[in-house]
Amino acid sequence: MTKQIKIGNVYIGAGNKIAVQSMTNTATNNVAETVKQIKMLEEVGCDVIRVAVANQNDALAIKEIKKQINIPLVADIHFDYKLAILSVQSGADKIRINPGNIDSDEHLAEVIECAKKYGVAIRIGVNGGSLNKQSSEQYGNSAMALADSALRYIDFFEKQGFFDIVLSVKSSSVQKTIEACRIIASKTDYPQHIGVTESGCGELAKAKSAIGIGSLLVDGIGDTIRVSLTDDPVNEVIFAKEILKAVGKDKDFCEVISCPSCGRCQFDLIGTAQKVKDYVKDIKKPLKVAVMGCVVNGPGEAKDADLGLAGGKGKVVFFKKGEVYRTVESNDVLNEFLKEIDFIK
Ligand code: SF4
Repeated sequence: MTKQIKIGNVYIGAGNKIAVQSMTNTATNNVAETVKQIKMLEEVGCDVIRVAVANQNDALAIKEIKKQINIPLVADIHFDYKLAILSVQSGADKIRINPGNIDSDEHLAEVIECAKKYGVAIRIGVNGGSLNKQSSEQYGNSAMALADSALRYIDFFEKQGFFDIVLSVKSSSVQKTIEACRIIASKTDYPQHIGVTESGCGELAKAKSAIGIGSLLVDGIGDTIRVSLTDDPVNEVIFAKEILKAVGKDKDFCEVISCPSCGRCQFDLIGTAQKVKDYVKDIKKPLKVAVMGCVVNGPGEAKDADLGLAGGKGKVVFFKKGEVYRTVESNDVLNEFLKEIDFIK
């Protein structure tokens, strides 16, 4: 079990709900645009938002942004330790730094001291492109180098008496990310922020994120996730939430199980499944409904569905927990099935 870490009013680690994160792509000092984007992300279920702090105005804007949003804010800082300190002073709930690009241990210690004073957590974010020098000399550009970099930084932070740490070891390689996160999980109990970085755009980017994040979550690794897409951040959050559902980390929804259909199917299975999916999209409790093409495999394959349908010759059967209980004409199937859903939702 990982340690619990507080980020504003959200707790991660220690078995808490896995928090979905995203990052704004507005100039942070454009408060109106940044708040507008954060509000859209809140609406689709973003739990924690990160903003880039590239200059002093960005750091100062955090104070105003925080007044207008409801979710915790993480400041993302590279190179300039003063911006990290200013972000904490402006009210960031967590900061994300890569210690490897802060210019000296003394300056890093100043950042840590400030976070300690304000009770703000720090994410040590190590990426393939910015490894600790000794780690990359010893392990090259490998998963071990990523993990070793993070472990060396933990050591430094702990020596400063700082323990509110979240870790991330990310690479654009799915395999390397998974391997590095597994090493980290075997060596520390700090919570991990997981994701495949710079995964690109389109279907491949989603596949990389689903496989990278999904495999780790199935292993029980990962306390907060970010799907990183070259796309509108709203899509990152929507897709992240689908990953959580797919791996059973979010059960409060109605899952539609449907077969791909084949030559045995005698009704409009694809259209019916899509309409059923739309109908149940706002249900927020654990339910399963099945839409199956035929009775050959349908009820048996979807035994654990709360409710299901399977096509037959001119008729469609409805079943519950794998047992057939009602037969309807093919023409009436959708209307009748939606009525049945109303009884169980
Ligand atoms: S349930 Fe029936 S229609 Fe659907 S794929 Fe299986 S055999 Fe084909």
